[in-house]
Amino acid sequence: MRYSLKAILRNAVTGHRNWTRAWREPAPKKSYDVVIVGGGGHGLATAYYLARNHGLTNVAVLEKGFLGNGNIGRNTTVVRSNYLRPENIQFYDHSVKLWEGLSQELNYNVMLSQRGALNVLHTPAQRNAAIRRGNMLRLSGVDAVLLDTAGVKKLAPLIDCSPSARFPVLGGLFQPRGGSARHDAVAWGFARAADARGIDIIQNCEVTGFKIERGQVHGVYTTRGAIGAKKVGIVVAGRSTLVARMAGLRLPIESHVLQAFVTEPVKPVLNTVVMFGAAHFGIVQSDKGGLVFNGDIDGYNSYAQRGNLPVVKEVASCAVSFMPRLSRLRLLRHWGGINDMSMDGSPIISATPVKGLYFNGGWCYGGFKATPASGWTFAHLIANDQPHRFAGGYSLSRFETGLVISETGAGPQPGKH
Ligand SMILES: Cc1cc2nc3c(=O)[nH]c(=O)nc-3n(C[C@H](O)[C@H](O)[C@H](O)COP(=O)(O)OP(=O)(O)OC[C@H]3O[C@@H](n4cnc5c(N)ncnc54)[C@H](O)[C@@H]3O)c2cc1C
Repeated sequence: MRYSLKAILRNAVTGHRNWTRAWREPAPKKSYDVVIVGGGGHGLATAYYLARNHGLTNVAVLEKGFLGNGNIGRNTTVVRSNYLRPENIQFYDHSVKLWEGLSQELNYNVMLSQRGALNVLHTPAQRNAAIRRGNMLRLSGVDAVLLDTAGVKKLAPLIDCSPSARFPVLGGLFQPRGGSARHDAVAWGFARAADARGIDIIQNCEVTGFKIERGQVHGVYTTRGAIGAKKVGIVVAGRSTLVARMAGLRLPIESHVLQAFVTEPVKPVLNTVVMFGAAHFGIVQSDKGGLVFNGDIDGYNSYAQRGNLPVVKEVASCAVSFMPRLSRLRLLRHWGGINDMSMDGSPIISATPVKGLYFNGGWCYGGFKATPASGWTFAHLIANDQPHRFAGGYSLSRFETGLVISETGAGPQPGKH
């Protein structure tokens, strides 16, 4: 059933009893052409683009829990493409372009709101780096605007731009096409659209092992039995290292908890996405009115979807030193998700040493914004056994050859990416 004004009116007169389910609940078949492990945003997008772009519909997405319980439903929803490295600029801007038509493409409102994304600058060195990044973006055809202190104040009056601020504001780098989207709607939209093209989405089906013979994958073992597959894609975000280990792969990834926070809802006070420059802190106001923000990863490796209290304190102190008026708000909820931190801060979309087995992960803090392009390029890799031109640099082999893509020049230090 297509969602439209006509459908709403038709269903209104029948008491909304005839809406069809958004996706089926099929039992797993004996085998598929492609099995995708992980029903997060990236896994569902991959399945959708396998069908849409490559005509592959004998495909299953296997999800150990329910759709939306992973990072796709836990992130702080920031969408932007204002990166420095050419590999990342082309990839993330492809993603923003896909975002711009996604609601129409999926016939599902993902609530993309292009209210802009602002990186605030506090030191002359940061401003120099931002000018360099802004020039790089503009030369690549991506929007970037350098603001002075008055420009930042006008755009986001909540920020303390006074000379006595704990971290005085020197300006900002603004991407007008950046913004946010509703995260769980993205999972549901891709799931519904993939299902409509014949893809089987199988929830409560945990992959527990891989059937590999003579270096070639032949399927997966799951809590609902063995399932054959000609090709298998691993897209499990925070559980990347655990799942890849079942196939004998050791990944250059560390898992860390990242916590997010939401305040009680208030009237509109912040009309753009803002990233603090003095520490890791990003904030956006949701359509419901809550201020949604996150800080840095917890400082130790973990697979638990909950965080520790010192980070809560650190994030709160960033919030009130940057936007003092936030101290008047009450925190409503906070939660954690597991980030798979790659050793250069850039993602991995790659074939593996096992034939027919592909890997997608290492998204660090930034995989939500990548969801459409990740699905698009991973589907291309699986279908053609060739990397997509926008993701050619994201191979696993870069950690052997040294051709790493270190966006911040921070090296293998996940907390600094
Ligand atoms: C607090 C927080 C804030 C963030 N903020 C942003 C942001 O503002 N902007 C941004 O771009 N990014 C952000 N991110 C990062 C982003 O959310 C992730 O990079 C991205 O969602 C990861 O891809 P995914 O959606 O496919 O992951 P997930 O939704 O985690 O999907 C992976 C799925 O694999 C499943 N799985 C795991 N093991 C198995 C198995 N053995 N068998 C079957 N299924 C399995 C899991 O259950 C899960 O559903 C944030 C992350 C967190 C935690």
